[in-house]
Amino acid sequence: MQTFIFALIMAKQEDQFKKVLSHAKEYGYVFQSSEIYDGLSAVYDYAQNGVELKKNIRDYWWKAMVQMHENIVGIDAAILMHPTTWKASGHVDAFNDPLIDNKDSKKRYRADVLVEDFREKINQKIQKDVAKAQKRFGDAFNEEEFRATNQNVIRRQKQIDEISAELTRVQEESDLVGFKQLIVDLGIGCPASGSKNWTEVKQFNLMFGTQIGASAENSTQVYLRPETAQGIFVNFLNVQKTGRMKIPFGIAQTGKAFRNEIVARQFIFRMREFEQMEMQFFVKPGTQKEWYENWKGSRLKWHLSLGMGEENYRFHDHDKLAHYADAAADIEFNFPFGFKELEGIHSRTDFDLKAHEEFSGKKLQYFDHTENKSYVPYVVETSIGLDRMFLAVFSNSLQEEALDNGTTRTVLKLPAVLAPYKAAIFPLVKKDGLPEVARKIMDDLKWDFNVFYDEKDAVGKRYRRQDAAGTPFCITVDHDSLEDNSVTIRHRDTMEQKRVAISELKEIIKAEVDVKTWLQKIDS
Ligand code: ATP
Repeated sequence: MQTFIFALIMAKQEDQFKKVLSHAKEYGYVFQSSEIYDGLSAVYDYAQNGVELKKNIRDYWWKAMVQMHENIVGIDAAILMHPTTWKASGHVDAFNDPLIDNKDSKKRYRADVLVEDFREKINQKIQKDVAKAQKRFGDAFNEEEFRATNQNVIRRQKQIDEISAELTRVQEESDLVGFKQLIVDLGIGCPASGSKNWTEVKQFNLMFGTQIGASAENSTQVYLRPETAQGIFVNFLNVQKTGRMKIPFGIAQTGKAFRNEIVARQFIFRMREFEQMEMQFFVKPGTQKEWYENWKGSRLKWHLSLGMGEENYRFHDHDKLAHYADAAADIEFNFPFGFKELEGIHSRTDFDLKAHEEFSGKKLQYFDHTENKSYVPYVVETSIGLDRMFLAVFSNSLQEEALDNGTTRTVLKLPAVLAPYKAAIFPLVKKDGLPEVARKIMDDLKWDFNVFYDEKDAVGKRYRRQDAAGTPFCITVDHDSLEDNSVTIRHRDTMEQKRVAISELKEIIKAEVDVKTWLQKIDS
């Protein structure tokens, strides 16, 4: 029975994910790259609505990070960097993923992801047991006690802990033989075929290399940056000096990063070309733990300000720390395929700046006037994938709603601050001077908001189209508008319609879509 229920949940998740994919294409959000040539694996293009949503997410992050903090400034470093950068950062030697092939299906997987997914399935069974018990016991339910006493949960939790410990060990010791043994011992089959006929585990470097220079003899091997962070580290002193920044201070950056991902089957969740939004916060050595906790808290608040449900986020503290970190956690989001990393918060110590000092021979130190000494600052990083954030927002917003009249509507309940278009303007009919009034409203509103004009089809159909595209407001101009300068404004989420004066429109829309309204929730 349990297996059956679990299969049902998985099928429902897959179904929801398929809907997300097709909706993203149908409503002009995301297209496959070079689709006419059958696409390029794990590379995507943002379409006319997608580019607006992506820009709004980027702006929402930038405003929260840079505009709201007087001690954080931004930069835009180049994608190509001196190749020694990647030697110093450890990427040339250690930016590897463990890969494994299935000999029967010929499919390639990340060994760590196979184990993590297996572990997550056990975790989902625990969640189900908890949810069932909660329903049974109602208000009297004590989750902590249930987890500590229920035999099924205890057994499963023990299994999870054992898997985590062994996964950490094989990763830390780069024990590739042990890695394969773990997969075999857990009885993990190929997700596509079920076959357990695996190759050995191998390490694979994820950086894309290319050449600078006109001829083969004179060319230099360079890399497309695999993270934006290093562009910040190499500019640390330039920014500190020219901006007269005092520690603690941060440098923020958004931009493309490239990784030759082994497995790239989850739409824009894992891409080979993607965009990061990173902030490196430089602090006095010894204060990094405090700042790390601080940033964990503020980043979660930023996510919660968008109102996508507190239950959809969780922290995952890393057992295995990267070579540069003394503490690390992910903010995981409940994607259509389960909880996965959305953002990383890492206490990176002084690893990067020290490594760049060593490889460049230049001092990267800060003179602290209060202490009267120089030191290499410690760094706390917040790093979020813009595309993953896009997927989180888009998949969470896509809903099917049963209506009172027995029909359903598809509605994309994007947080209004992020919606590509804030309002759509319709003349009820395409004659009698109504299009002219609608155009006039549009010409006025477009200075403040991205607005959309539509005069095709019955108005009900136009409403549905905008619901599915995610537009928070529809404004309809009818014959009365010619007499009394009023229009009907319809709210996407409530479908409520109100008669308002044309002169009020700007304020009504602003109250709901203004960045300030949303960002203020972070401090409340
Ligand atoms: P994962 O474990 O999922 O591969 P990571 O731990 O390697 O991710 P980081 O190096 O910490 O990721 O990068 C910071 C953020 O960049 C991630 O939290 C994620 O949102 C985003 N990111 C990383 N790799 C990709 C990718 N291939 N496609 C899209 N976004 C990505």
